[in-house]
Amino acid sequence: KSDLILAVNDVLANDQTHHRYIIKDLLGQGTFGQVAKCWSEDRDCFVAVKVIKNQPAYHQQAIVEVSILDMLNSKFDPEDNHQIVRMIEHFYYQEHLCIVFEMLGVNLFELLKANNFKGFSLNLIRTFTKQILKALALLRDAGIIHCDVKPENILLTTSPGSAEIKLIDFGSACREDRTVYSYIQSRFYRSPEVVLGHAYTTAIDMWSLGCVAAELFLGLPLFPAQSQYDLLQRLMKVLGGKPPDFILRYAKNTSKYFKIGRAPNEESVLMGERQHSSYQFLMPDDIRLRENEAPVIGRHYFPEDWDLEKLITSYHMKRGMSEEEIKRESSRRLVFVDFLKGLVDMDPLKRWTPNQAEQHPFLTEAPFTGPFQPPQDVPRLPIRQVMNMDHNPVTGHWF
Ligand code: ATP
Ligand code: MG
Ligand code: MG
Repeated sequence: KSDLILAVNDVLANDQTHHRYIIKDLLGQGTFGQVAKCWSEDRDCFVAVKVIKNQPAYHQQAIVEVSILDMLNSKFDPEDNHQIVRMIEHFYYQEHLCIVFEMLGVNLFELLKANNFKGFSLNLIRTFTKQILKALALLRDAGIIHCDVKPENILLTTSPGSAEIKLIDFGSACREDRTVYSYIQSRFYRSPEVVLGHAYTTAIDMWSLGCVAAELFLGLPLFPAQSQYDLLQRLMKVLGGKPPDFILRYAKNTSKYFKIGRAPNEESVLMGERQHSSYQFLMPDDIRLRENEAPVIGRHYFPEDWDLEKLITSYHMKRGMSEEEIKRESSRRLVFVDFLKGLVDMDPLKRWTPNQAEQHPFLTEAPFTGPFQPPQDVPRLPIRQVMNMDHNPVTGHWF
C-alpha cells in the first residue's frame, strides 16, 4: 500500500527515539504525500509532519530534501536567522518517511487570497522580499537551488503580529553541481533558461522571486501562462526582447519555440557584423502546444499589450486609489519596477544575485536616482559536471 490514511488522533511514532506525534489536523495533501499538524508530546509543541508516499520516486526525492535541509540547518544556518524552515527530525513510520518540521502559519498564496487578491502594500512586500533574499543568499553560498520558489512555499511564522516568513519545501531542491532534472519550477515562476532546456544555476530562484514579488503587488501571477509557449510569449511581451542568443544557441528546446532566421549574408559579414540575433519566435500555428497543460481559468486580468512598467504603475485602477494617493505612490512604484527588472532579467548572467538585489533602493530605501547598477558580486566558478557532455562556452556551464 502506497499511502497511509491519516486521521485526527492517530499517532505517528518514531520507534528509535520513542517520540510520539499525535495528529491534530491535516494541513495539506499533494502528490508527495500529506502534511499533518501534530502535537509533539516530547517537546510540548505543535509540529508539521510531512508523511511521504511509500513509492520509490517520492521516497528518493524526500531523501534529498532531508539531506539538503539537514545541511542548510546545521552547517549554514545554525543560528536560525536565514528564514529557512527548521527540520526537527525524520523517521520511518510503517515504511513511510516522515519529516518533522517546526510549525508555521499560512502560506503567501493563502494570504493573498484572504486579501481578495488585491495585493499587498509596497512596505509589506519590502519586508517579505528582504527575508526571501536572506534565504536565497544562503542557498547561493551553499550551492543549493531551491527550484520551486512560489507563494505556496513561503509561509508566515506563527509569532503573533509579525510579518516573519520562512522558505519551505526543499522537495525539488538540488545541488548546483547536480542539476539532473530539466522539468523543474512551477510554470508561472519558471525561468526562460529552464523553459528552453539550458543548463541552470541558483539564478533561476531569483527569477522566481521576481515573479513572486510582482504577484504580491498585483495580487495575481505576473505570467499566468497556460503552456511553456504561452509563458515565453508572455514574458517577451511584458519584458521586451528575447532570451539572450547564447541561451537560444545552446538550449536543447530552442527549436520547439524558435526558428533560425536567415544566416548573416556576405554583405553583413563584410560590414564586420558579428553573428546577429537570427532566432525568430514561432507563431502559435507553427507549434504543437504542450500536451496536457490544463488551461488556467480566470487568470487573464491584465491587458495583453502592457509591459512591466505599465502593469505596475497603472495598477491603481484595480485598487481604487484617489488621485492624490496615486501621485504619492507613483514614484515609489517606479523604484519597484526597477527592482523587478533586475530579477526578471532573461539573461541569467546579468540577473542580480541576492547580494546585489539586497542593495537596491527599493529595499534600502535610499534615494532613487535612476536605474540601479549593482556592484559586482563574487562570480561563481563554472561547475564542471560530466566531462563528455555539452558545454556552453559563454556561461561556462556543462549540461
Ligand atoms: P508541492 O506539491 O507544492 O510541491 P510539497 O508536496 O512538496 O508541495 P510542501 O510544500 O512541503 O509539500 O507542503 C505542502 C503544504 O503543506 C504547504 O504548501 C503548506 O501549506 C503546508 N505546510 C508544509 N510545511 C508546513 C509547516 N512547517 N507548517 C505549516 N504548514 C506547512
Ligand atoms: Mg510545496
Ligand atoms: Mg514540493
